[in-house]
Amino acid sequence: MLEFPHDVHTHTAYSDGTGSVGDNVAAAEEKGLKLLGITDHSHYLTGKAFNRYVRDIERWKNEADVVLLAGIEANVTHSGVDVAGGMRKRLDYVIASVHLWLDDPEEYVELVKLALLDENVDIIGHFGASFRYIGYPSEESIGEVLELAEERGKAFEISSRYRVPEIDFVRECVKRGIKLVFSSDAHWPRGIGNVGWSERVFKKAGGRKEDLLFAEFL
Ligand SMILES: [Zn+2]
Ligand SMILES: [Zn+2]
Repeated sequence: MLEFPHDVHTHTAYSDGTGSVGDNVAAAEEKGLKLLGITDHSHYLTGKAFNRYVRDIERWKNEADVVLLAGIEANVTHSGVDVAGGMRKRLDYVIASVHLWLDDPEEYVELVKLALLDENVDIIGHFGASFRYIGYPSEESIGEVLELAEERGKAFEISSRYRVPEIDFVRECVKRGIKLVFSSDAHWPRGIGNVGWSERVFKKAGGRKEDLLFAEFL
């Protein structure tokens, strides 16, 4: 059993997931989650698709026995984050993730900094998912990321899918008051709420309820 049962990063068939919003809600209820976030990929949600997506989640908010939030997973590229203010206004939060395959970890950090400077971004997704393959950025760069996140009030997800960030990073977030969230990044309903790794790392790093971004719902 989870002490802080929430999952703020899940996908549906609105992007590359398999379930409907209702399927994800049902799975979250079955798992006993208190909070579920739907965060489909932004590049699938242009024009009318975005309207349908938001309306569908809004409708489920009234029916669900779990607190349901409408989020999105944006992409961070060299030109910035692909979610504009107009979209952000209709969402509860935005996760920004680096999905580009970069050979240089310092270049990865530069993109994350762009996201941290973007007022439409709330949470950085799976920070450092590629570091174990491409190498780790310098301690100085990591320090800059933490400083900027603290200054700008941004949160980080602890991703059970990619098992990032490192526990030392999470510990540093707790120390600095940078908020955290748990995420499965599930692309199918049965993966919803698989955030055991997130909670273990969070607790080991000294995290307490008030260190969670959505503590009010838990
Ligand atoms: Zn992602
Ligand atoms: Zn995702």
